[in-house]
Amino acid sequence: MKILVINAGSSSLKYQLIDMETEQVMAKGLCERIGIDGHLKHTPLVGGKPVFNEDVPMPTHSEAIAAVIEKLTSPEYGVVGSMKEIDAVGHRVVHGGEKFAKSVKIDADVMAAIEACIPFAPLHNPANITGIKACRDVMGDVPMVAVFDTAFHQTMPGKAYMYAVPYEYYKNDGIRRYGFHGTSHLYVSGRCAELMGKPIEELKLISCHMGNGSSICAIDGGKCVDTSMGFTPLVGLPMGTRCGDLDAGVIQFIMKKYGFTIDEMLNILNKKSGVLGVSGVSSDFRDLSAAAEQGNERAQLALDMFAYWVAKVAGSYVAAMNGVDAIIFTAGVGENDSDTRAAIVKYFGYLGVKLDKEANSKRGQDIMISTPDSKVKVFVIPTNEELVIARDTKAIVG
Ligand code: AMP
Repeated sequence: MKILVINAGSSSLKYQLIDMETEQVMAKGLCERIGIDGHLKHTPLVGGKPVFNEDVPMPTHSEAIAAVIEKLTSPEYGVVGSMKEIDAVGHRVVHGGEKFAKSVKIDADVMAAIEACIPFAPLHNPANITGIKACRDVMGDVPMVAVFDTAFHQTMPGKAYMYAVPYEYYKNDGIRRYGFHGTSHLYVSGRCAELMGKPIEELKLISCHMGNGSSICAIDGGKCVDTSMGFTPLVGLPMGTRCGDLDAGVIQFIMKKYGFTIDEMLNILNKKSGVLGVSGVSSDFRDLSAAAEQGNERAQLALDMFAYWVAKVAGSYVAAMNGVDAIIFTAGVGENDSDTRAAIVKYFGYLGVKLDKEANSKRGQDIMISTPDSKVKVFVIPTNEELVIARDTKAIVG
């Protein structure tokens, strides 16, 4: 069975074609500047075919999908003989609200429910819907599955997902904590249990997804019991450009003083805050480390704040779960930045965590970075959201 995994953004579309017999990625690629002009980078990973990296007109997502299918099946760049060899499509969908606690086969009712979640994710869900419709246009009635970023977090208890605001905002408007990066937290927690050789039902895990966007998830017995992102992905840890947790009074103060509209204010909190805002240098941890090494104090402060917040939130989850067996680092920073990992692990002395410095210096593999006698284990596990989407799609489509 071959499954096409699609992650559609407003002007971009990432894809992977995965052979489910071996779980090998046969080809992957990225369409960019959809609706502007259009560019496709297509990378075949089997058969020794060359990379295609050129402008292709893409007035809409339909032309983007058509270009992807053309490349996947072309004699020169292709990895399959025809579109018929693609058995199903798995779509990443950001927000499933309270309606979806699992992945589902897409039909008219599911499309309506995804549309109903647009107010919760006004930037992402419309793009995901456009990707699904474009696939329908180009690929006809091939079975398609929606895999939601929010689904894994639906097991949180009310005491964790409720905000302490008047209850009717939850009841009438769905105002609550939803959480994001669920597919990533699900993948790395499952993999961690495999690496520990224990059933996930017996483990208390803390998964730290640290990328441009970052969130932490407390996973007790394989189920999410708390997570740091909330109604939107703006809160929790300070991120690349997002502010993380913030007193609502600060928003009112800045808006009043500088005369900002709510959209201007949210733009600052989403795009100009986080480690970029504090450092004034960059949202990229590589730039921050380089600047800090050259004595830039604000870059160092931003790095210190990030490590402190990860440790603080993870510590609160140790309390929430009454213990922890392993802590997992994943995503761009979690997988690559050994200094940031070491800075975070320093806070875990009270848990009996001991860092294996040599293991921590390695990259690009699933690895335990705590010493064998460390009371709580620490792992680096490269995330693989596409594989989760493909596995769910296979399980649902059969
Ligand atoms: P992601 O959102 O998971 O793609 O992560 C992207 C972020 O990972 C970048 O903005 C960087 O901050 C960080 N990153 C990627 N590679 C490295 C690296 N080698 N060292 C430190 N940080 C890195």
